[in-house]
Amino acid sequence: MAYKITDACISCGACTPECLNEAIEEKEPHFMINPERCTECVGSFESSRCVLVCPVDSCVPDEDHKESKDALLDKWKKLHPGETPKLF
Ligand code: SF4
Repeated sequence: MAYKITDACISCGACTPECLNEAIEEKEPHFMINPERCTECVGSFESSRCVLVCPVDSCVPDEDHKESKDALLDKWKKLHPGETPKLF
């Protein structure tokens, strides 16, 4: 499932450089995660980078976008053609 950013976001921008899928966009009233690009960091990292760096814990699982690990890996492969995913 993709992650989402809650209204607790203070728009500090700490998360955007951490996301190798370029899924986090600066929007109003706060940053947003594009579910078409979020893989929960499957393919890149062992755990979700935005969750680790967010100072106000505003990155949370998006229950409206549930996906299996295989589906997340397929999404990653489409976003990074020709690259080899890191598997954990
Ligand atoms: Fe990007 Fe990973 Fe956060 Fe999804 S969980 S928005 S892929 S940093």
